[in-house]
Amino acid sequence: MGRGIGRKGGEEIRVRGLMQGKRRIRNLGILAHVDAGKTTVTEQMLYLSGSTRAVGNVDKGTSLSDTLDVEKKRGISVRASSLAFSWQDVQINLIDTPGHVDFSAEVERSLRVLDCAVLVLSAVEGIQAQSEPIWDALRAMGIPVVLFINKIDRKGADVAGVFAEMQRAFSPSMVLINGAKNEGFDEAAITELSAVQSDALHEKIAEQDDALLERYLEGEALESSAIDAALAQATRECKVFPVLCGAAKNRAGVEALLDAIIRYFPDAETSIDKPVSGVVFRIDHDERFGRIAGVRLYAGRLQTRDTVHNHTADREEKVAQIKRSATNKYEDAGELTAGDIGFLCGLPDVQIGDILGDPEPVPGGYVLSEPLLSVQVRPLNDADHTALAKALQQLSSEDPHLNFKWYSEERELHVKIMGAIQTEILTAILATRFGIQAEFSDPTVVYRETPAGAGYGADSYTMPKPCWAIVKYLLEPGARGSGIEYHSEVNVDKIKLKFQNEIAASIADALKQGIKGWEVTDLKITLVDGSDHVVHSRPGNFKLATNIALMQGLTATDTILLEPFIAYRITGPEAIGGKVTSDIIEMRGTFEPAEMSEGQFVLQGRFPLATSMDYAIRLSGLAGGKAKMTLGFDGYEECPPGLGVEREYKGISPLDRSKYILLMRGAITLATT
Ligand code: GDP
Ligand code: MG
Repeated sequence: MGRGIGRKGGEEIRVRGLMQGKRRIRNLGILAHVDAGKTTVTEQMLYLSGSTRAVGNVDKGTSLSDTLDVEKKRGISVRASSLAFSWQDVQINLIDTPGHVDFSAEVERSLRVLDCAVLVLSAVEGIQAQSEPIWDALRAMGIPVVLFINKIDRKGADVAGVFAEMQRAFSPSMVLINGAKNEGFDEAAITELSAVQSDALHEKIAEQDDALLERYLEGEALESSAIDAALAQATRECKVFPVLCGAAKNRAGVEALLDAIIRYFPDAETSIDKPVSGVVFRIDHDERFGRIAGVRLYAGRLQTRDTVHNHTADREEKVAQIKRSATNKYEDAGELTAGDIGFLCGLPDVQIGDILGDPEPVPGGYVLSEPLLSVQVRPLNDADHTALAKALQQLSSEDPHLNFKWYSEERELHVKIMGAIQTEILTAILATRFGIQAEFSDPTVVYRETPAGAGYGADSYTMPKPCWAIVKYLLEPGARGSGIEYHSEVNVDKIKLKFQNEIAASIADALKQGIKGWEVTDLKITLVDGSDHVVHSRPGNFKLATNIALMQGLTATDTILLEPFIAYRITGPEAIGGKVTSDIIEMRGTFEPAEMSEGQFVLQGRFPLATSMDYAIRLSGLAGGKAKMTLGFDGYEECPPGLGVEREYKGISPLDRSKYILLMRGAITLATT
């Protein structure tokens, strides 16, 4: 059993586990651009599996997986929901994730715990803005994928066209494994592959297997069981990606999709004999159970009332209850075993990303997008200020990207967001879940700052005793994207190791707000001189002196603002190509030479976020919906002088030295969280 795990009644359960035979589990993600039909696919799967008696319907607001009132009302998914059902004796933990770019943080958190994924595309719209970053993330994380071309019943459905687009944009290793008939009509259904399609499938599969390839090249007919086995193997190794089609709304092709999920995807590792290892991938707040942590277990077993070591926070956690989520109701589970997803109650301080037990088997995360906009939240009724702050704190624990900051001195509440839709959803959540009417300011780009040149910053914190910390830093600009580099040239006989460690640990915090109010990045910091005092130095003294010295250093070097840049790819009818390029120049953007084919242009380049926030809307106005744009964060660049936004320091600045020292010593208080 794992580090810090108490066990109770283990023997009995172990015997039962053996008698049940090997549990088979798939943690499956359903991903797509918004509106492609993820939720509809999910509902149909639940229905087919017998988990629900009636099919939930997004258009009628009866969807089981869209549980928030706002989701039902707007027909979009905001939170990833997780539901378990079984198909052919395999337990499928299904994670239906939101597709709107504003909620990609939710997708990101889910990706980490997936064994396999279905990427849903529309047979009419094909690859859309959010499909590509999701595809890239799935590839980067090595997650096997099956693709589902949905909505073959809609007018304009074109499975062959979308399949070709996928082969071009995603990977040439796509294999079509069923076909469509009556495309574009209500009667649309799936069919066997045509002779030509089937031959293409055989060729692609044979390429993956030398023995099969030899037989294929000799013109031998390959039996379907051999093809299937090779296809499964290659799918698990992410060498090929099976593609199916259907119309989820009419349940067409959904059963074949479920079969493919069983046939081609790998089982989760379910060994309970190794030390406990798991990761917290979501936090929920439930009226009855309080804070609930969604955990994927990679090894071992957790039982109610077990104590588990929180590796990330380095503390013991006591598990009060373990639940599972079946069709969105929490049920008592009593235990959680390797391979499965469960919900733990009684861990009041646990955070998203915390690793429980052994960190070794837990895969790393993936950053799909960063929130690049900052907004201020105000209550309509001033008396709600504290309640609003508490609500935002809770929401921020569910979505750490919100990065909630409460500046009590200024009575300001700030969160970071991905886009405008998110503020609309947050407004609704604050009203319905917390009963608070709030409004959001217009978003500001999240700038950063970096030293304009090299310079020194120093502080001697020696009064009023007891205290002693003398430090001197050299600050130098670093390469773009290099972040913060710190090293010390001061010997441990001048500043003891424990204080040097305190300094190293406090640098990042000290740079959260620079002299222009933004996080400081891309710089080299060297501790060049300083001393401690045998009698007077106290823990915290060096942190305080470092905060002051670095701010003074930044004043000496002065800083320049950096702004976020976005990489774009725009395709559209040639007729608007000229207008688009002139728009991009106007937005201070750049582009590579345009590619033209079949009356369409493809333009790629980058532009500042600050000038392009509303370009998706402007472009669709310009092209009457015929243009497509994909966007991705592409790093920070220098902002031309005079164009950025500077902010006042929030709270008491280390530059206001004596007041700051009083604050740090607790002589004055400030309830900033
Ligand atoms: P999500 O945003 O990806 O979760 O997509 P939804 O499942 O909410 O579906 C978006 C819209 O597409 C809804 O109006 C669905 O009724 C509709 N839809 C989903 N699947 C199909 C389909 O196979 N055919 C047609 N014609 N409409 C569909
Ligand atoms: Mg949905």
